Amino acid sequence: MEFESILLPGVDAKRPFIIAGPCSAETEEQVMETARELSARGVKMFRAGIWKPRTKPGGFEGVGVKGLPWLKRVQEELGMYTAVEVATAGHVREALSHNVDILWIGARTSANPFAVQEIADALEGIDIPVFIKNPVNPDLDLWIGAIERVYNAGIRRIAAIHRGFSTSDKKIYRNLPQWHLPIELHRQLPNLPLICDPSHIGGKRELIAPLCQQAMDLNYDGLIVESHCNPDKAWSDAAQQVTPAVLDFILNTLVIRDMTQSTESLTALRRQIDELDDSLLELLAKRMRVSNEIGVYKKEHNMPILQEQRYDEILKTRIAQAEKMDMDGEFMKTVLVAIHEESVRHQMIIME
Ligand code: PEP
Ligand code: MN
Repeated sequence: MEFESILLPGVDAKRPFIIAGPCSAETEEQVMETARELSARGVKMFRAGIWKPRTKPGGFEGVGVKGLPWLKRVQEELGMYTAVEVATAGHVREALSHNVDILWIGARTSANPFAVQEIADALEGIDIPVFIKNPVNPDLDLWIGAIERVYNAGIRRIAAIHRGFSTSDKKIYRNLPQWHLPIELHRQLPNLPLICDPSHIGGKRELIAPLCQQAMDLNYDGLIVESHCNPDKAWSDAAQQVTPAVLDFILNTLVIRDMTQSTESLTALRRQIDELDDSLLELLAKRMRVSNEIGVYKKEHNMPILQEQRYDEILKTRIAQAEKMDMDGEFMKTVLVAIHEESVRHQMIIME
């Protein structure tokens, strides 16, 4: 696939380009006030959700078409470009008939090939930039598939938005970044612009700045950030929205390194190492928990902690497996002995 530049006339080509605006358009006043404050700080592209996909019914599902004339005011009075999320062919038609400048496909929609195809069919013969968020699940092919469907409809101005991946583990992030997936997307489609959405990855204000910086260090082209004139009172995603003034501050503190190819790859590889270490730690902690349960079982059944035959079997099989996987047997032995020692220590505490 060969993509064309998504930069609209008057938008600075300098990294990062910024799309900002509220999660949702709520009222005409909120839209105009937020847009005015953003425009005064040099933001040229204004986002606002008109149709909101909500996890449960009964939440605020967006103002619908009545919000589109508000966006027209943003274009006409402030000279900004506008971007909305489309999830159906009907949304595409409404957005186009109100001259919206940019469309994006949300994460729940890009996970559904039927929905993406319906949108792609509605885009046939139209020339408009379309940004495609990663699907909620960490499936790179599904993301690429969504991009291909839109590309096959004739759209050439495409960008990918990385907004993280859904997980039941909501400890730090609302949506796990899994940086290796957008990195791999970039490896496969090097001329596809990549935009980071720190708002939906982080889910909280404090994470916007570090996530923006990480995206810049990974050489992303742009950022899409939720910004609201009164974030605490936002009707959706209040915890992750920042005022235009805070956004401006965050953007001004970003360090944009002019990276050569080699440092870019190094940062990308290090990011992969970070993710892998995370998984290793998770697995180790899980193994420790299971070993503790075994300790409880042994106590209840009056069994000794050290089961030599079992230990011997673990060492032999794992070392052989490691060697097959091109790892040194001695190294594997050191790791296994350390893990075993720690498990025994835990089980001894349990026995006390
Ligand atoms: C949004 O951008 O407001 C949105 C609903 O995002 P996502 O599709 O990433 O959840
Ligand atoms: Mn949102």
